[in-house]
This record gives sequence, structure tokens and C-alpha cells, in this order.
Amino acid sequence: MNPLGTHFQVWVGSWDPEEIRPAAEKAAAIGYDFLELPVRAPETVDGEAIARILEANGMFCTTSFIHTPDTDIASEDADIVAKGEALMYEALAKARDMGSTRLVGGFHSSLKKHDTARTPAGRQNAVDVLRRVAERAREMGIVMCLEPLNRYESNLINTGGQALEMIDEIGSDNMFVHLDSFHMNIEEASPANALRECGDRLGYVHLAENFRGYLGTGTIDFPAIFKALAEINYDGPIALEVFSAAVVDPAHSARLAIWREVWSDSEDMAGHAFKFMRDGVEAARG
Ligand code: MN
Repeated sequence: MNPLGTHFQVWVGSWDPEEIRPAAEKAAAIGYDFLELPVRAPETVDGEAIARILEANGMFCTTSFIHTPDTDIASEDADIVAKGEALMYEALAKARDMGSTRLVGGFHSSLKKHDTARTPAGRQNAVDVLRRVAERAREMGIVMCLEPLNRYESNLINTGGQALEMIDEIGSDNMFVHLDSFHMNIEEASPANALRECGDRLGYVHLAENFRGYLGTGTIDFPAIFKALAEINYDGPIALEVFSAAVVDPAHSARLAIWREVWSDSEDMAGHAFKFMRDGVEAARG
């Protein structure tokens, strides 16, 4: 059975350990194995306090990371790229403090709606930085998983095929693909085939409906996704990534265009999703 987790913003938008504690307690009570904690400003995170909370609840965590334009490693500006590389080492150190063994997400570039296409020089900068960061991560016992984002959030990596291509150029066996049903729904001809194409190079999965509401109430073909995961014998983590204006992280909600209160009860949403994911995985395994 895959470890099942929830993004912390299903529960809370703040890094205050006293707000994360009840989220961890409620998620653990439902049966979740891990929380996904998005490190956006490493200096604001009390890694040891988070680690103690997780341990007290028998949970582990994964860490997600993205860049803003001022630390965009796919920029042509050497200063911005250097800032981005330095911030990734800080994020890795914070992930290690929290006991995380995976750095996941769209860390290949800045998350925003871009006005122009990427340049080959900018793309090469990202490849060169990620080669060094992947090596540092390995020394720290952290696996990296690169996430394609939809066209409104990235102009660099939109599909699983593009992620595989970039990872080949990075040339690290510590870099895997992270696929997300929300982004695949926009960019992939077939999400199930995108998962199959990754095979044993898939390292992380985000599940969300097409509108980030309750799983199974939208247009995503989840049975096909669970079947593809079973076919490639994927045994890695699967994380629920749904957002609602009911839970706000000021630094992130606007960037992801979370304008509507698609759901309002975190516990109910997470409880429903846990059963949905567990039953879906079990049914596909037969
Ligand atoms: Mn995602």
C-alpha cells in the first residue's frame, strides 16, 4: 500500500507549530501517513518543532518547493540563478531538520503565469543548478521529484515527457518525476499514459480533482490513474493536494488562483479523500 498524505494547506495556511499540531493530529486520526509541508521561506520554519509534532503523531513529512521570480533558477540572470540555488540548499537543510526524505514540486522554475517563452540559456541554467542540488540532496538522504505544472503556472515543464527529458539532461539518478492529476488534466493527452511512461522513474503523486474539490465529484478519471499506478508497481507516496479559499496561505493562495471556497470543512474533505484514495489503490491492485 502506498503511503497516503495530505498537503498541509488542506488544514492550515500558517507555519506556526501550534497551528500545525492539530492538523497533524486530525490527519493521523483519519489514517494519513504523512503531511506535505511546502517550504516557501525556510528561515521562518522551526524544523525541529515540526519534527517533534510529526513524531508524536507517528507521521512523516515530505517537503515541496517552488521558486518565485526573484530566485528563478531558469532565469538568464546569473544573480537570480545563484540566489535560487542558495535557497534550494536552505530548503534541503530545513527538509532534513523536519525529517523529510523527499523534496518535491515545481522547483525547476518560478511559479507564475509567464508572458514569454523560456530561452535555451535559462533552461540550461536550471539543468546545471539541479544537477548540483540533486547531488547535495543525495548526500543528505533526500530524494528529489520534479513536478510538471500547467501552462498558467510554468513555461518550462508542463508534461511528464518534458520532465523525463530534463532529468535525462540533469543526469542524476536522485531525480524522479512527480505527477499531479490537476496539471495532467490540462496538459497530457492521457494522464494514465503519462504515468506509464514514467514507470520506475515516478517518485511522487499529487491527486486533486479538476477543480480541486472532493475527489470523484469532477471530471478526472481516477480509476484509470489508479490502474496505471498499479501497472507500473508504484509504491511511493500519494498526496492529496486540494485548496479552497476556506484555508488561506497569503504567500501562495493568490499565486495558485485559489479564489473560491470550493469546500469548507478540512476534516470532512480529508476524511473523504483518504477513503477514496485507499479504496482506489486497493481496487486497482485487485
Ligand atoms: Mn501539485
